Amino acid sequence: MNGTSTTFPPPRIPLSPVLSRFPMMTNVQGKQPPPSLLAAKYKRHISSGRAGIALALESANIVAGDEVLIPAYHTDSMIAPVRRIGATPIFYKVGPDAKIDLDDIKIKVNTRTKALLVTHYFGFMQDLTLLKTVCNTRKITLIEDCAHTFFGSINGKIVGQIGDYAIASSMKFFPIYDGGLLVSQSCPLNSIQLDTPPFVFQVKAILNILGKATEYRRFGLLGKLLRVLLAGQAILWRRIKTSVNSNDSGISSGPASADGGYGLDENWINKSTSWPSKKIIEHTDLDQLVRTRRKNYQTIHNALLNITGCHPLYATLPDGAVPLVCPIYIDDPHKHFVKLKQLGVPIWRFGEYLDDEVDIELCKNSVELSAHIFQFPCHQELSDNELDWMIQTIRTQLEQ
Ligand SMILES: *Cc1c(COP(=O)(O)O)cnc(C)c1O
Repeated sequence: MNGTSTTFPPPRIPLSPVLSRFPMMTNVQGKQPPPSLLAAKYKRHISSGRAGIALALESANIVAGDEVLIPAYHTDSMIAPVRRIGATPIFYKVGPDAKIDLDDIKIKVNTRTKALLVTHYFGFMQDLTLLKTVCNTRKITLIEDCAHTFFGSINGKIVGQIGDYAIASSMKFFPIYDGGLLVSQSCPLNSIQLDTPPFVFQVKAILNILGKATEYRRFGLLGKLLRVLLAGQAILWRRIKTSVNSNDSGISSGPASADGGYGLDENWINKSTSWPSKKIIEHTDLDQLVRTRRKNYQTIHNALLNITGCHPLYATLPDGAVPLVCPIYIDDPHKHFVKLKQLGVPIWRFGEYLDDEVDIELCKNSVELSAHIFQFPCHQELSDNELDWMIQTIRTQLEQ
C-alpha cells in the first residue's frame, strides 16, 4: 500500500481503518456474527495474508518444480510465497471486471499444476462453482485469496469455504497493526507450528495502533493527550528495541507486511497475530463494520456515478458483498493521480506493479485494471465529514 507515497503528503483521512473507540468497551456478546472467514471450521490467526499463502502451499505439499496458477492481476505478495519454495507461478487471464477466465485456466492446467490461487477482488466474490470442479478433477489445490473479502457470502455460501484453503489479511479490515488468517474446511491446520511474536513487537503494535488513531485525531481530548505522549514514540521505540533485544536480527522490528511493504519475511511466516491486534478483532462489532462499509461504498459509488471521465468498476453492490474499497475506473489516470495524492486523497492501487511476465499479450485486462482503477477507502472508521471531504475533492478534481 505504499508505492510512491513517500513523495506525497500523508493522506488527510485514513486509507485503512484506524482505532476510533476503545475495543473493550464494545459489547459484542450474543450477537449473531455476519458471514466471514472467522466462521471456517479450522482457522489460525497469523501475521499476514502472504504468510497464509506460504503456509497453505506448505500444508498442501507444493514443492520446487510444481506450477501454481496465479491471476495476472496481482500484487507481489501473492507471488513471493510461490517463488520461495521454488515453484513456478503461471499467470492466468482475468476479464475486464477482474473475473477469472476459466477458459484460459483450462488451457494453462497441465500435469505439473498443483495449486491455483483465486482472488475475490475489492470485496466482490468470484463464482467458484465451475472452477472448483476443474480443480477437483485435476487434483489441484484451490486457495481462495480473501485478502479483500474477510466478510461476505455468495449464493448462500460463506466466503472462503469453497477452496481447500483460504487466506485473509485481517489488517485490511480492522484497525490493527499486523494480522492475517489461514482457514480451511477440510484440513485441520494443527500441524502448523506458530510462535508468539516477540514482546517488543507486541508493544510496537500497541504504539502503532494508538499512534495512527491520534494522528487522525480520534478519541477527542484524550486523543490529544495521547498524541503528546506518543510524540516521542519513535524515540521510545528505539530505546525499547535496543535495551530488550540488542542482538536479534531484526525479528522484533516486525514484518514488512505490517508497514505496507511487499516482502515476505521468512521469520514471520510461522508467527501468530499479536495480542493487541487479536483483541481488537475479537471486540469489534462485526455487524456494524459490515453495514458501515456497504453504506460508505454506496455513498461513494452514487456520488461518482454521473461524473464524466470515470465510472465505478462494478455497476451494483451484490447483496452478500462487503467491500474493501470502492474501485473506480479513471479514464485518464495520469492526469488525476498526482493531483489527488497532492490534495491528500487516500488512494490504493492494487496491482500497480505487475510481474514482468504480464504484458498486454498475456492479459490486456490486467494491464488496463492496473493502470486505470483507483480504489478509494469505504472502511468503517471514516467519519461522515471525512467521507464528504473525500467525495467533494474527487469530484472537483475529476471535473477539471
Ligand atoms: C494484501 C494482499 C495480499 C497479502 O496480504 P498481506 O496481509 O498484506 O500479506 C494477498 N492478496 C491480495 C489480493 C492482497 O491485496
